[in-house]
Amino acid sequence: MTGPNYEARRNRLLRKLKDASVDGLLVTGSSNVRYLTGFSGSSGWLFLSSSTTVILSDTRYETQLADECPGLDAEIRDAASTLDDHAARLIAKAKVKRVGIEADYVTLSQHSSLAKKIVSAEIVATSGLIERLREVKDKWEIEQTREAVRIAERGFAVVRSSLRPNQTETEIRFLLEAAMRSFGSTGPAFEPIVGVGPTSALPHAHAGGRCVSESPVLLIDWGAEVKSHYRSDLTRVLITGKPTRLMEQVYNTVLKAQQAAIEAIRPGVKCADVDKIAREIIADAGFGKNFGHGLGHGFGLEIHESVRMSPLSEQVFEVGMLVTVEPGIYLPGKFGVRIEDDLLLTPDGNEVLSNVPREFEEAIVPFLA
Ligand code: ZN
Ligand code: ZN
Repeated sequence: MTGPNYEARRNRLLRKLKDASVDGLLVTGSSNVRYLTGFSGSSGWLFLSSSTTVILSDTRYETQLADECPGLDAEIRDAASTLDDHAARLIAKAKVKRVGIEADYVTLSQHSSLAKKIVSAEIVATSGLIERLREVKDKWEIEQTREAVRIAERGFAVVRSSLRPNQTETEIRFLLEAAMRSFGSTGPAFEPIVGVGPTSALPHAHAGGRCVSESPVLLIDWGAEVKSHYRSDLTRVLITGKPTRLMEQVYNTVLKAQQAAIEAIRPGVKCADVDKIAREIIADAGFGKNFGHGLGHGFGLEIHESVRMSPLSEQVFEVGMLVTVEPGIYLPGKFGVRIEDDLLLTPDGNEVLSNVPREFEEAIVPFLA
């Protein structure tokens, strides 16, 4: 499949600038620069206005820029100048009156330096302009994500089939990362969470030294990143010993909440309303205070992107959005259960991209139980 149309993305952004009351924008968020240009280096800014589109970087990236952004005007700074100098000059040359600066990616010291140098235009803080465009994925982005999901699933299958009672969380994490790389991932989408028993009760735990045999509950939250930087994000709990009734009850409550949320997700529905459906099922089962995080999030070039499912969300689902659905119940000191899948919003509802078994019986690892 052919790659993304960066120019079309930039044109869409240019049409949005008016709403933000700016006539030029300095893009400094690296994922935003990547989204608009394809440039994957760590130091690069994009300036755009109706008359000018220029990417700014330094000599380390000269060749990479020519490779990744053919046809795009580039300014390469040398050791004697700064990106601020170049940006200020471009802004003046383009006769921009109000220039947007991405408030979420500029530090206070960068802001004060820019404010000193940009004298020809008024600086306006902008937020979420490009993130809003990134919420709805195109066909190519969805294909990249499908590949990231497929690799994650294959990696998980390797881990599951080679589980041993004396394996540690860290060993499982490394095996998972290696397996995903062997299937074509450029690396994990984020540091995989592998938690046994009490560790699984920490929603964002680091894999440590606990052994599989210490508790029947093993939680794994993982994803793969592919070359284009798109990602997947899944969570499963495996039952590796004789489960208690509480474990089964918690597991099935989380699963019920997830299923109800997945059934409710369709274009036009409010994100907060879906969060509420899942939250009520968990509260009705008596675990309301054990589910403290949002129900899900957008993902793509970054693991957490715009579109948040939480009680505070004011967003509405649209066709083409990619979201996770990940209710959880955490019992401190004991265990936690979270089940997370990746969904694509379709005209009729949604498609669950991930296909790892999720029923309680299917979570039981037979040779250990
Ligand atoms: Zn996750
Ligand atoms: Zn997630």
